[in-house]
Amino acid sequence: MTRLLIRDCSISGVAGHFVLCTDGRIERVSQGEMPVPPGDAEIIEANGGALHAGFIDTHCHPFESGWLKRSVDLRGTSNVTAMRLRVMAGVRRAAPGDWVTGMGWDQEAFPGGRMPTRADVDDISPANPLALTRVCGHMALLNTRAIEVLGLEGRTSNEYERGSSGELTGIVKERALSEVFSKVPRTSERAAADLQSVESEAARLGLTAMHCILSPEGYREELEAITSLVTSGSLSLRYRVYVPPEALDHVREQGLRDRLAGEGVRINGVKIYADGSLGARTAALREPYSDDPTNSGILRYTDEELAQLVERVDADGYQIIIHAIGDRAVEQAAEALGQVSGGGNPMRHRVEHASLVPRDLRNKMVRHRIRATVQPLFITSDTWAVDRLGEERVRDLYPLKSMLAEGIVTSGSSDSPVESMSPILGMWAAMTRGGSTPEEALTMEEALGIYTSAARSNGHDPEEPLMAGSVADFTLLDAETKGSHPALFRKIGVLATVVGGSVVHSYGAG
Ligand SMILES: [Zn+2]
Repeated sequence: MTRLLIRDCSISGVAGHFVLCTDGRIERVSQGEMPVPPGDAEIIEANGGALHAGFIDTHCHPFESGWLKRSVDLRGTSNVTAMRLRVMAGVRRAAPGDWVTGMGWDQEAFPGGRMPTRADVDDISPANPLALTRVCGHMALLNTRAIEVLGLEGRTSNEYERGSSGELTGIVKERALSEVFSKVPRTSERAAADLQSVESEAARLGLTAMHCILSPEGYREELEAITSLVTSGSLSLRYRVYVPPEALDHVREQGLRDRLAGEGVRINGVKIYADGSLGARTAALREPYSDDPTNSGILRYTDEELAQLVERVDADGYQIIIHAIGDRAVEQAAEALGQVSGGGNPMRHRVEHASLVPRDLRNKMVRHRIRATVQPLFITSDTWAVDRLGEERVRDLYPLKSMLAEGIVTSGSSDSPVESMSPILGMWAAMTRGGSTPEEALTMEEALGIYTSAARSNGHDPEEPLMAGSVADFTLLDAETKGSHPALFRKIGVLATVVGGSVVHSYGAG
């Protein structure tokens, strides 16, 4: 029997609570008089800090985040020399012939905005193939060794950029990028180590669960990593797993839906991409981009193709989550999901990001009971939003308050590695919005709700209020949250993270 006693915490703004947990569930919540701690109980002194139901990130890519952590960080480099120095350090750490990946360069920050070419990096890495992704993730620089290893010389598509004399420059874009990354060797051991390193960071940030999106390039190794970590009992947080449609045959053949069906780790559904991103102007819009009037973005599927895919996946009983950022893509996703709503599959389908959602689309989502997963930190990061969309349309960008008020069950997330995994920062962004469209700012209670109760609901987990009998998943903060100023909310720290009654992080424990 494992017991945990949390002393002197605040619940819903009421101080002086004691919470006793036994074997993963809350046994007793009391106020005022302190229960005599059972001799074997672990004790956490909250000193008045607020206790909340466990925070959940409902859309993240932990395997990518882990990969990034061991890649060369090129963010903030202001010229090619700085980029070369960092890549050289990465090459020195790598074994001969191993791939060296990097990310975060931005030629806009280089003098004259010159795009780097393979000639800029060939001499520093003659034997190791390099794949250096631009900050947007939609473009990468390869060196000559990488081009040789992948056999790209004969490629004719314009996604493989060529110089004036017809030679490959080393710059590859969009779909060519997935071709390249599907060939960078992956191992399940590496993937397992990546997931564990991200898990400890997530626990430190107060997350008790993640909705984990697997990649079309690496799902085999990622599923193998998850399965082996589950078998060895090495995972501390809860995971709701979403696989790409490409993985469905593999999942069936390996019987993974039955093997990964526990309270800890469970395959929930399938993630489908409908469009791209606003930053790269590939998000699909009903009207052209304000700063590129010839471009309305890119839909990955025709309406019929998406509808058919949705129908097929829905018939298999999966939860469907569709990446849709532009209003045209949200419309397409809502239409396709609407076709199957109210059918035999009880799963609650979602639109991921749901960035540009004017009222008619919100109404459509409400009508079909379609859920949404949003990333509040996008609001403060997308500083170019008005350029892309214009003053008028930007009012329907991330309309979180309207979505909640109109009845769309909306949960919070980071899309890590795109944004920090910190749910505290996410809540802060949902409440403050960096000052933009303040009428769409959430209250603190709403901001907490999108990372707790709505997050559980959007992952098909029962609501677990802080009362006897509920599962003991908590995030304990180092201060009272009720009444704290939204702008200062980001300063609040995490005192402890508890999953199923086990302390997976506590302040001072490293
Ligand atoms: Zn994502």
